[in-house]
Formats: sequence, C-alpha cells, structure tokens
Amino acid sequence: MAVHDTGAPFRLVDLHAHSHCSDGALAPAALVALAAQRGLAVLALTDHDTTEGCAEALAACRTAGIGFIPGAELTCGWRNQEIHVVGLGLEVACGPLQAQLSAVRQQRHERIAAIGERLARHPACDGWNPATGILAAGGVPTRLHVARALVARGLASGVQPAFDRFLGRGQPGHVPAQWPALEDAVQAILAAGGQPVLAHAHRYRLSNGALGQLCSAFRSVGGTALEVSLPGISPNDTARLLRHARLTGLAGSVASDFHEPGVPWRPLGRLDKLPDGIEPILSRLQPL
Ligand code: AMP
Ligand code: MN
Ligand code: MN
Ligand code: MN
Repeated sequence: MAVHDTGAPFRLVDLHAHSHCSDGALAPAALVALAAQRGLAVLALTDHDTTEGCAEALAACRTAGIGFIPGAELTCGWRNQEIHVVGLGLEVACGPLQAQLSAVRQQRHERIAAIGERLARHPACDGWNPATGILAAGGVPTRLHVARALVARGLASGVQPAFDRFLGRGQPGHVPAQWPALEDAVQAILAAGGQPVLAHAHRYRLSNGALGQLCSAFRSVGGTALEVSLPGISPNDTARLLRHARLTGLAGSVASDFHEPGVPWRPLGRLDKLPDGIEPILSRLQPL
C-alpha cells in the first residue's frame, strides 16, 4: 500500500512510537486508542529492544481499523556513538532477532542497575536506589525511567534537568555502555524480514560529514531508510537528511518518536507528508 503515491489521498501515518513495554507511558492498546482518536491510518509500535507489545497492539489495531506494522527500535553503536535503528515489518518470532533484542535487554538491565548503585551513593539520593523499583516493574528499563523516578522523588524538576544533573555524559549517574555494532542490529532486522530505518539521525552528535559517513555505512550493511519527517525538526535539518537520503539511496520514513501524551513536542501522528522525490518506506511494507 503506497499511501503517499501521487493521486492517492493523504493518510496519516506514524512509524515510530513507544508503549509501556519500554519507556512509553501508555499500554499498547491505549496507544492504539490514541492513534484512532488522531485519525491514523497506519501505526508502527517500535519499543526499545522489545517486540513484547506487538500482539496487543495488533489486536487493538484490528478492532480500530488501523493498519499495524510490528516494529522495534534497536540500540547499537557506531564510532562510539549510540545509534538507534528502527526495524519495521518484523517477523517477531524470528530467532536471530529475538537473540539480538534479548542480549541488549540484558545489557540494559546491567546498566540501569549500575546507574542505580551510583546514584544511591550520591548525597542527593542519600542511599535511595532509583533502579530497584524500575527493575522490579519489568519491561525494558531505560534512563528515561530513572529520570522520571528522580523527578517523582523531587530531585529534578523535569526529565531534561534529570539528564543534565544526573544521567548525561559527565554526570554522577552516567554509566557508559558498549552496545552491539550497527551492522548486527541491521542484520537482525533483515533476518526478521524487516526494513532497517536509521532513527532521528539529526539528533546524533555528528558533524554533517560524519552523518554522511554513517548513512553510507548504514546503507552498505543493508539499511533501507532514514527518518525524514520528524516533529519539531528544523527546515535545515530536514534538508540535510533529505540530501543524505538521496545521496545514499535511502527511502524516507515518518516518525513521531511518541512516548507520552503530556509531551507536546513529540505528538503521535502529527507529521508532515514526506517531500516529493523520496520513496516512502511504507511502500515496501504491508500493514497487518
Ligand atoms: P537509554 O536508552 O536507557 O539511554 O534511555 C534514553 C531514553 O531517554 C531515550 O529513549 C529517550 O526516550 C529518553 N530521553 C529523554 N530525554 C533525554 C536526554 N536529554 N538524553 C537522552 N535521552 C533522553
Ligand atoms: Mn525512549
Ligand atoms: Mn531513539
Ligand atoms: Mn524512539
């Protein structure tokens, strides 16, 4: 189904969203209810390193008449930079995919435990370990969970201040991570019959030249698309991403990176149409 084809009516699509199976606030069915309210025609669930919520989201999408794309956002590394690759149209039962996801989740657990121990030694936390409750709750633990716990405890005024004071690079609760290689994440997605999409590339701390090299490396290991239509992105960044997509032969994706309703700058499904001249990755996907 090529929803952006010339002549076809424009339909709202969002190919990057989180549920409470990772660091989103909503259950998969509640995410789908919001998508229905927003009039979305197609939704992908792309939780960090898990496909756990896909069965519930698929069932809810069927009821709501929304096309569903099973996905996940895989954490990996390239040149010491953490990179996220969204896999779309995944065969979730694929063994190599689940092995990759499970290995990263194990690393995530260890990292959040280490962050918790560091923070418990910080005078502001005074022995309180924010990781204990997060790890006990299940799901994929992320630093966003830790940031929310710090806010709830009154130790930070918001998520961003929590990253700035405690969790970001150089801060007392920062624990570096060694994620799998970009190529391994892409291979796991391809093994599951999925389309590997480079997520929010404008947010990586890379020069424009290095971003071009990342896009080339991504394409050469089998990546197929770049997120181009993103909320709040500057016209300059959009132009930069489009240029890289064209140069490297990558298709384009539309991606809110929605996590929770209270965050107005990443709303579900409020995305611009892809510009002309770039192939929509959705044309290579079959929504369920
Ligand atoms: P992790 O994947 O464990 O490093 O957790 C990072 C998650 O925290 C991301 O997926 C974002 O959802 C969220 N986040 C929110 N604000 C920030 C920030 N300033 N820096 C990094 N991550 C952030
Ligand atoms: Mn997240
Ligand atoms: Mn991401
Ligand atoms: Mn995301």
